Amino acid sequence: MKITSIKTAATTGHGMHLWVRVTTDTGVTGTGECVHGGTQAIAIIQYLESKLIGRDPFAVDAIFEEMRRSHVFDGGDAGALITALTGIEIALWDLKGKALGVPVNELLGGRFRDKIRVYADCQVAPGMNFDEIKKVVDDVLHRGFTALKIDVDIDAYGYRDSEVAHFEKDRFNYTANQWEHERMIALVDMVTQAAGRDIDVAADVHTKLDVPSAIRLARALEPYHLMWLEEPVPAENIDAMRTVTQSTSLPICSGENLYLRHGFRELLEKQAVNIIMPDIPKCGGLSECRKIANMAELYYIPFAPHNVSSPIGTLASAHVCATVPNFLVLEYHWLHRDYWTTIIREKKDIIKNGFIELDDTPGIGVELDEEVGRQYQYPGTNWFE
Ligand SMILES: [Mg+2]
Repeated sequence: MKITSIKTAATTGHGMHLWVRVTTDTGVTGTGECVHGGTQAIAIIQYLESKLIGRDPFAVDAIFEEMRRSHVFDGGDAGALITALTGIEIALWDLKGKALGVPVNELLGGRFRDKIRVYADCQVAPGMNFDEIKKVVDDVLHRGFTALKIDVDIDAYGYRDSEVAHFEKDRFNYTANQWEHERMIALVDMVTQAAGRDIDVAADVHTKLDVPSAIRLARALEPYHLMWLEEPVPAENIDAMRTVTQSTSLPICSGENLYLRHGFRELLEKQAVNIIMPDIPKCGGLSECRKIANMAELYYIPFAPHNVSSPIGTLASAHVCATVPNFLVLEYHWLHRDYWTTIIREKKDIIKNGFIELDDTPGIGVELDEEVGRQYQYPGTNWFE
């Protein structure tokens, strides 16, 4: 079997959802998805196609590593090149699964579990009162989710309140004032009350605090038994993150903007976080993220992937989650977009009662509905041509 073409299509969504299709001389094809690579990733995939035509599509890891190493001066450590390779990698796994008649998780080593627990990213905006928060949380819980995440930083939704503007934290300075500190605690207090004791809640700070503000917040939130506090300080300084992690019993989670095993090595070796969250359709693909999870397992650190993908990228991520012992929970970030169930030919919600159940459908297990996809085509992009 030989690769004959690699083409892309893109739709609007969380920024851009980029689909990658690999075709072969036998007629077997595979479709992958990658996110956050932007139009740069499209251009890179167009360029890489010429390098990969005629290659054996089954040599997935070798193709990935060869392309990465041979373009190390062009971004072979992190960024759009890795995301472009990730889209190709996921398409190759889909293709190989279909060619061999097995689900992708079977190719990755088999399943530790059949059901993948999913948490809902839940849009609770600053300034909401308890009743408004309860309505948002109830909507998520009625769908069957047993875990959710909220954003506690004030800029998450562009929220700025003119009435309290004189108290609000400066956009660029990382120090939380007393008003901001208490506002974040009050938000977590209301959400955990609305959710009830059985629901796991995570809180994302989007790297907005300095070390003392983060430690003060984390310690104040300890009684709420959060699933995790996400990126309380800027994620690029691993020592600063470790200082926060070592100063609180609240689990600290980071890693949504790291790439490859290399990106996670220092974070894990220094045990600078309690939980990692690689974005699988962005940071290196299925094989690489399984290896990242295995590295974390050496430190008993759970694997809770970040995810903003469509059902294709989400299900691809779920295949990895099935094959590692330390999987904790997978993100779902689509509550407020309308084509989650219609963009796949199966016309179903792959999440039932807060879980993705894996079956034995070959490849990833769902197919892009191109007719629906074209309705959301990203302006200025090609459609598999
Ligand atoms: Mg985050």
